[in-house]
Amino acid sequence: MFNTGCRCEKPTKFLRMEADFSSDPIWCDICSSNLDLPTLPLSFELKNELMKWILEYGKWLDLNTDKLVNRAFELQREHNEWGLRLFLKVESELGNQYCIRFSPSTSVETYIQRDLF
Ligand SMILES: [Zn+2]
Repeated sequence: MFNTGCRCEKPTKFLRMEADFSSDPIWCDICSSNLDLPTLPLSFELKNELMKWILEYGKWLDLNTDKLVNRAFELQREHNEWGLRLFLKVESELGNQYCIRFSPSTSVETYIQRDLF
């Protein structure tokens, strides 16, 4: 089994795909270590697509004003749909030696909640 290089004592097969700022897209789902994308057993093309996806993460947030931009909901939804399409490719390339789940972004909801109070 591929060594994830995470903080778990034993090699784990439980992974999570989730976008965040300045992070690679695949995480250990047990200890939440961010895994090094180049070392994962995925095709070069898919790694490239995943990095494009990661770079588009959060374009619904205006980091200067710490507010949501116009169409934030739609932008986040489109990004999550794109992520889900990539996730299906990741899942098929990893095969059944791993158990990976997709965790869509909910930062728009977090911002809306925050601004209610
Ligand atoms: Zn781990």
